[in-house]
Amino acid sequence: MKKITSIILAAIVSITSLAQSDAKLKFYPYELQLKHSFNLASLSRTSTPGVQLEITIDSITGYGEASMPPYLGESVESVMNFLSKIDPQRLADPFAFDDIHNYMDSIAPGNYAAKAAIDIALHDLTGKIMGQPWYRIYGLNAENAPHTSFTISNDTPDELERKLEESQPYSIIKVKMGVPGDRELIEWIRSHTDRPICVDVNQGWKTPEEALENIIWLSNKNVIFIEQPLNKNDVEGHKWLKKHSPLPIIADEAVQTSADIPLLSEAYDGINIKLMKCGGLHDAFRMALLAKGLGLKVMIGCMTETSCAISAAAQLAPLADWVDLDGNLLIANDKFQGIQIKNGKVTLSNLPGIGVIPLKH
Ligand code: MG
Repeated sequence: MKKITSIILAAIVSITSLAQSDAKLKFYPYELQLKHSFNLASLSRTSTPGVQLEITIDSITGYGEASMPPYLGESVESVMNFLSKIDPQRLADPFAFDDIHNYMDSIAPGNYAAKAAIDIALHDLTGKIMGQPWYRIYGLNAENAPHTSFTISNDTPDELERKLEESQPYSIIKVKMGVPGDRELIEWIRSHTDRPICVDVNQGWKTPEEALENIIWLSNKNVIFIEQPLNKNDVEGHKWLKKHSPLPIIADEAVQTSADIPLLSEAYDGINIKLMKCGGLHDAFRMALLAKGLGLKVMIGCMTETSCAISAAAQLAPLADWVDLDGNLLIANDKFQGIQIKNGKVTLSNLPGIGVIPLKH
């Protein structure tokens, strides 16, 4: 009895000390160097900006990251500015995700990448305190994680051959359409491999009729789904397309947080969840459950980011029908060792939290 009492007392003391601990917050810009320069018609770039973040409580450190694609309107400056307003002591109970997200929302709306950096680090930290990876805390089976896709973009014939070679370990190829030469690229890939293709249009088709014509052309080419064919605001156009399309239509730009899902459930067959769109795992998990409850397919995507944010997103992979988690494969100076892709499949580790080990650079 005495022993049990002392264990309970020790537990109370440790919980109390956790609640009273100092939280230390550190964040800094980190430029991601791209392995291959990105060649889009309008720009060519060799690096992309990011922000790295650490929260330390009782000598346990959780790692987080913000990556900021320009279309979401965040920048290194806006992320650094938002994070500088956070009082680290409001993070002292790292399990209080709801309160902490409400606190962050009270500082400013939006800023989802900045909020995701905090959220990812809190998940890493709390997973480490519990000694479990988050996919296990969610009750998911790592074996159910699907295969990930590898993006091949249009390029010179030599570069296309190289990209095809690089894509060999992956069982699914992703292609951007809605850009000049897109049908030629699909034909080129089909003449070299019969692996299935996911198509991402990035809002590039102008009318539902144009989209349907393209989708019908794609429908006998072993294409799995079409991502964001029309403008994100064209809900009616997508509703019409969903009724007529022989292939599933997935929302990406049209869906940011869980609050967007009910309106979209009749316009799409599935949603692409990204931590940087929705502010981290707290809402991403809610999005996945809500989507599944409404009968929608779930895809987990990413931005160009290190294995930190990729490994965090991968914790939800067993819930997903498809994952597109290749952002870390594009960069030369990854700061972390995280999830592995084995034979094209997302492979989760038993490491606690989000499952990353920092690398020295
Ligand atoms: Mg997309």
